[in-house]
Amino acid sequence: MLIVMHRSATQKQIGAVMAAVEKMGLKASSIPGSERTAIGVLGNKGYVDDLSIRDFPGVKDIIHVSKPYKMVSRDFHPRPTIIRIIGVEIGEGRSPVTIAGPCAVENKDQILRTARAVKAAGAELLRGGAFKPRTGPYTFQGLKEEGLKLLALARQETGLPIVSEVMTSENVELVAGYVDVLQVGARNMQNFDLLREVGRIRKPVLLKRGLSATIEEFLAAAEYILAEGNSQVILCERGIRTFETATRNSLDLSVVPIIKELSHLPIIVDPSHATGKRNLVPPMAKAALVAGAHGIMVEVHPEPEKALSDGPQSLTIPGFQKLMQETKKIKDFLGY
Ligand code: PEP
Ligand code: MN
Repeated sequence: MLIVMHRSATQKQIGAVMAAVEKMGLKASSIPGSERTAIGVLGNKGYVDDLSIRDFPGVKDIIHVSKPYKMVSRDFHPRPTIIRIIGVEIGEGRSPVTIAGPCAVENKDQILRTARAVKAAGAELLRGGAFKPRTGPYTFQGLKEEGLKLLALARQETGLPIVSEVMTSENVELVAGYVDVLQVGARNMQNFDLLREVGRIRKPVLLKRGLSATIEEFLAAAEYILAEGNSQVILCERGIRTFETATRNSLDLSVVPIIKELSHLPIIVDPSHATGKRNLVPPMAKAALVAGAHGIMVEVHPEPEKALSDGPQSLTIPGFQKLMQETKKIKDFLGY
């Protein structure tokens, strides 16, 4: 529920409404706007009987929000959220960022070579999986903590903040101890215990859209994280399951403007998992930026033919350098 106050409402009137809401056992959060203040009501399980509040001095209107998310919505939080990660800013009005690196950390040489190369080419963050959610149990599952240590070493060498996936609630503390951004993968988008757990830490979370998740489910998943107190969430479109088999997934680019309308959280695009094919990554990465994405995340490997996971969709280092030259022109065109 959203309580919209009159333009002329005084601080005292706003305070009285908030106190009345709290007295009902609900949480009130004030949303000051350039025109007027609104008060977001959280914690109600169903419809709140608002008759008494409607009569409070200064109240203009009451809007019932039936969406399964509130804190992530623009209605409750009109101003864009900017995520700050050691010197890098992600969100509206900021130059779109590039997160690059291998699908999985494989060894010291591989991650350091990639980190140096992507940094030199202009990437702002380094990605690399240490805990890998693989489709089959007999494939490479990641180096686990050893992989996190190698990522930390790569950060020390290059200064690039690091992004890595956490797959279980039990490992949140461990992963958070090493990384700058915790990734929740597509397969875990509705692992509600994991979402709550990353909601309790104070580090940014990169939440990937589930394989068959609607936008509403995607935002409701983000709501779990915000509801626990962590508002530093970056959403990531990575393609969805459709009947199409020519690509690994179908990149749903219209999500970018839709999310920007519905939510204040930044939205980035991963064209690597969306397409599954190296040659499709650059055009889709560029399309994402033109669509208004706040960043892209791409897989890069020094020797993709030898990669232990996702080689076919990984850019080579020269391929990534070329993409960065092209995206620079797009950013110039977009005015960043
Ligand atoms: C990844 O980015 O490492 C990954 C596994 O992607 P997704 O969860 O989108 O499949
Ligand atoms: Mn991958």
